[in-house]
Amino acid sequence: MDGEAIYQRIQTGILERRLLPGAKLAEERLAEVTGVSRTKIRQVLARLAHERVVTLIPNRGAYVARPSVEEAREMFETRRLIEPALVAKLCLQATPENIAVLREHIAKEQLARQKDDLRSIIRLSGEFHIHLVDMVSTGILTRVIRELTSLTCLIITLYDKPTAPACPQSEHTDLVDLIEAGDAEGARQHMLDHLLHIERTLALEGELQAAPDFEAIFAD
Ligand SMILES: [Zn+2]
Repeated sequence: MDGEAIYQRIQTGILERRLLPGAKLAEERLAEVTGVSRTKIRQVLARLAHERVVTLIPNRGAYVARPSVEEAREMFETRRLIEPALVAKLCLQATPENIAVLREHIAKEQLARQKDDLRSIIRLSGEFHIHLVDMVSTGILTRVIRELTSLTCLIITLYDKPTAPACPQSEHTDLVDLIEAGDAEGARQHMLDHLLHIERTLALEGELQAAPDFEAIFAD
């Protein structure tokens, strides 16, 4: 297995919630399982750390990141700045092949939902957004969105309310309808609402009040 493959496996592990926030990524163990040198593992971990998906702690090693509430909010803010503009652009240039790829992807999401396969639902939700950017980007934005999608998955895992897993299916379908119709303004607004909707389903407010009540703890 080469570095790129290991990198992608770790990304997928995060998308599928097999690797949870705070999980230790021991170099030795990863080298053993993948059959590559610890130097190579260290390079992959450094890349993931650069993308903020992994946290490196000196003398302790690498851990799957635990984004803070502030980071989660900023991440959604960034996606709101990028993705609505991106789908508006796609509306003006989408080919019938693009629409077919998106419809096929939605069918996969639907199937995962029918099977109640949570891992696949979350991974496919993220991949839908990567497909969209792939269709208009030469690679630079794809990289940015791919990184943000991994972070979003970590954030959903950390702050999800049990009732709201990943993107609502119907919103992806509506978005593809708008893209197919070439409705750039409609698609832009829809993506903005969709991202706000995901952010609102997360329990980001609750975390802010999570500081311990020291007065109560040390009363008398
Ligand atoms: Zn979505």
